[in-house]
Amino acid sequence: MQATVNGSASLPERVIYLDNAATTPCIPEALAVMVEALSGPCGNPSSHYSIGYEAKAVLDAARAQVAAALNAQPGEIFFTGGGSEADNWAIKGAAFTRSRQGKRHLITSAFEHHAVLHSMRSLERMGFEVTYLPVSPEGFVRVEDVAAAIRPDTALISIMMANNEIGTIQPIREIAALAREHGIWMHTDAVQAVGSIPVDVKELGVDMLSLSGHKFGGPKGVGALYCRKGIWPQNLIDGGGQESRRRGGTENVAGIAGMGKALELAVKDLEHRMTHEQQLRDYVIDRVLKSIPDARLNGARAPRLPGNVNLSFPGLEGETILLDLDMHGICASTGSACNSDSLDPSHVLLSIGVPEEIGHGSMRFSFGPQNTMEEAEYLCSVLEEIIPRRRAMSCMWLQSENKARSFSLKGEN
Ligand SMILES: *Cc1c(COP(=O)(O)O)cnc(C)c1O
Repeated sequence: MQATVNGSASLPERVIYLDNAATTPCIPEALAVMVEALSGPCGNPSSHYSIGYEAKAVLDAARAQVAAALNAQPGEIFFTGGGSEADNWAIKGAAFTRSRQGKRHLITSAFEHHAVLHSMRSLERMGFEVTYLPVSPEGFVRVEDVAAAIRPDTALISIMMANNEIGTIQPIREIAALAREHGIWMHTDAVQAVGSIPVDVKELGVDMLSLSGHKFGGPKGVGALYCRKGIWPQNLIDGGGQESRRRGGTENVAGIAGMGKALELAVKDLEHRMTHEQQLRDYVIDRVLKSIPDARLNGARAPRLPGNVNLSFPGLEGETILLDLDMHGICASTGSACNSDSLDPSHVLLSIGVPEEIGHGSMRFSFGPQNTMEEAEYLCSVLEEIIPRRRAMSCMWLQSENKARSFSLKGEN
């Protein structure tokens, strides 16, 4: 990587990875159990001979690890091919099961992950009705809005535990209590929350919860759906009798083992990780809001994921900032990773009322346990150098400055 050395920002020796909300580096302990699972005798966990039983034992151990991390029973954990599959299964499966009792209405929010939003759209095309709740300017779904949306035919409420772009943590316990009162199933997409903040399914009172291995130091392409005992979303992947006949297909034994290990370690170290990530987050927010004129924070400061920073720099395009940061060895994201291929402003930022032109100049920095205060300081010094330089070249910014100036001149006359 080649970068110009100027100002206080010095040349990085390696990549500074500040995009842990998109994915996390696989931790060595997870990698070790995966290598072991892949290089052993490799039996099929459904086979009835000793090497099959060995593979089954690997699955059982990982199921126990995931269940313990969530305060669930092992029999309530079903492995999937990732967070998106778990979301699809919970939402479509619940809709199909409950439509047999005439319940064909679902409630969600406008700023969910696309795995949830597009599952809902898909159900709408099949004739289901969906209410998309608005989000407050601070980034929260309001419990009273959920209450007002409930109908006699409501099958499911699905609200994410923590937003993947702005990190705001939602009042899941209150919403789940409301759902239970009305006999409605409650699902939460906790993909950003699990491994980052405490997640206890009993305390939350949810019926279903999605998680994904690669968001907490495990491998990609493996996740799980927690389904409370007695809750049966219709199968999404039909096939053999795997996962108690509820998710067909030979399990990704090595991936599941890696995910179980990563989650066990993340939860064991959770308090320390949270304190560390919070320090980096608060340092960057405080410093940038002070040192860069007109920078603004998207989403409330609390309750917020410990590692999430989402900032807007009016007058600039996020893509420009992203390229400049890459030149300095820093990996970050404009809004959401899933939106990086499109130039549409993020649906999350639009949902909290960020004007389109300001949404375009937004960046997400997400810290993980491996990041250091040195990296946070380096990020700030790079931003302090590139933002004013790019603004000096930006027509958008200069125009808005001129407008402000001529307006104040007129005001003086
Ligand atoms: C990453 C993410 C997903 C998708 O998980 P995959 O394992 O990548 O399919 C779903 N929801 C949220 C909130 C996420 O951050």
